[in-house]
Amino acid sequence: MKVAAAKNALLSITVNPVLKTIIGRFDKECPECGGLLLNSLRYFLGEPVSLCARCQEISGKAAFPVYELGSRFLHADREFMHKKFLDERYGESWFKGFGLMMKGVEKYGIRFPFTPAGPFEVVWNLTYQCNLKCKHCYENAGVGKRSELTTDEAKQVIDKLSKIAGVGLPALSFSGGEPLARKDFFELAAYATKRIEYVSIASNGTLLSKDNVELIKDVGIDYVEISLDGVSPQVHDEFRGVPNAFARTLDGIKNCIDAGVDTCIATVMHRNNLGELDKLIGLSKELGTRFMHFNYIPTGRAKANAQLDLTPDERFYVLETLGKEIMGLYLQQKEEEIRFGKSSVKSDRFFSTCPQYASVTRDLSHKYNASFMVEAHYAAEQGIEGVADFLGGCGAGRLYCCMEPNGDVKPCVFFPTNNQTVLGNILKDNFEDIWDNNPFLWHLRSRELLQDCIVDGKAVGCASCKDKYICGGCRARAYSYFKGDVTKPDIGCVHNKPLWEKIVGNGYL
Ligand code: SF4
Ligand code: SF4
Repeated sequence: MKVAAAKNALLSITVNPVLKTIIGRFDKECPECGGLLLNSLRYFLGEPVSLCARCQEISGKAAFPVYELGSRFLHADREFMHKKFLDERYGESWFKGFGLMMKGVEKYGIRFPFTPAGPFEVVWNLTYQCNLKCKHCYENAGVGKRSELTTDEAKQVIDKLSKIAGVGLPALSFSGGEPLARKDFFELAAYATKRIEYVSIASNGTLLSKDNVELIKDVGIDYVEISLDGVSPQVHDEFRGVPNAFARTLDGIKNCIDAGVDTCIATVMHRNNLGELDKLIGLSKELGTRFMHFNYIPTGRAKANAQLDLTPDERFYVLETLGKEIMGLYLQQKEEEIRFGKSSVKSDRFFSTCPQYASVTRDLSHKYNASFMVEAHYAAEQGIEGVADFLGGCGAGRLYCCMEPNGDVKPCVFFPTNNQTVLGNILKDNFEDIWDNNPFLWHLRSRELLQDCIVDGKAVGCASCKDKYICGGCRARAYSYFKGDVTKPDIGCVHNKPLWEKIVGNGYL
């Protein structure tokens, strides 16, 4: 932990000034060839790119050594990068992600955890409208009338996102409210998929009729995440506040699967559905979907139902249960690769939005003499454990951010909406300026600023945790439980149990 802090200090005075200068040499716009940063990367990966003599020279002398260094640092050789960026599906997203990383090094240097020059993903709460009344809704959707962007304004937003930091956004996810409740949803989705490589949607599933799922496919949406709270109407409908929601959601899931859409069952685990976990995992396996556990965060309507939040032990149980599933798939995949040279097993199926999932899966893998880790919400790639402190767990306002239906930008969907958390508006303000300079964002990104709390004379919290650079605790949970202080501990972690007992036991909320 102290090593990463020392590394940051050392990097800022040694390597970073040099790297920034070198990248600055090839992050240029050539009147003849266009942007050299991305062109030289394609050239480096062996794509036939027509470059003028000057761009070729700068590429060879300045860009190639940096790309070589970057690939070694990420344990990804040129061949792997070529395959990932240029050959595989969604390669363009990876390519843009790497471009944002390079620009991030140029702007802010190499830091632990790392901040790219723009988010890898934006979750856009497209509308406040919703046909359900879920108890945990972070957006408090379906209540009152709040202003949203018009169709034309929403298209302007997509245009802006597609050019973010001069590179472009790798991935966009439409959420809500219920995104399908917006009448122009398919028009906007079609507009987005032409400009952004990877577009997904988070839905309550009730509007995913066969016809709508066909439209989802037609417009090119890549992934659908559908919320389900349990495997029975009693559990799901009670939480969703509307009768018959379960049947309609299950139909929506099945319609997506039948149409061959990449589908994920997403569940907020809380005290009233903990007993459903095994059944939900079973359903996901039976249907062949992915499964995503969403962390309970007392914000929006979930704040009024904070008693539903899991205890640290309960949360740990959820993470270990999911960790065993993904570990099992990973080991099966590895064994097949050793025996047959390849495997058809897809291991990237059981995820959690809890940043503690990284340390839980790492520790589990050691029990199996393996080296494997799921770096928070997004990555189960082999080799990632070597750069986990660089990727850094909680990605709020660092690897990802969110937007409200009116274009307001926030670090993460699980932060409430107020003067502190709204960083600016994508149509009215300059996004790069927000990303580069907003002090609240830099608070979230800097693990050195984390603070412990004292319980019975002992320091408890994320600041003194050895895993703070691969996890960092959910900053939105810290915000919720500590009245807006994002430097405080995530009390939902087993390591912070004494604090949970002190705060929740004392009726802090
Ligand atoms: S104490 Fe904080 S940083 Fe450490 S594992 Fe728990 S939540 Fe993560
Ligand atoms: S604050 Fe961080 S860990 Fe929590 S949900 Fe948002 S991105 Fe995930």
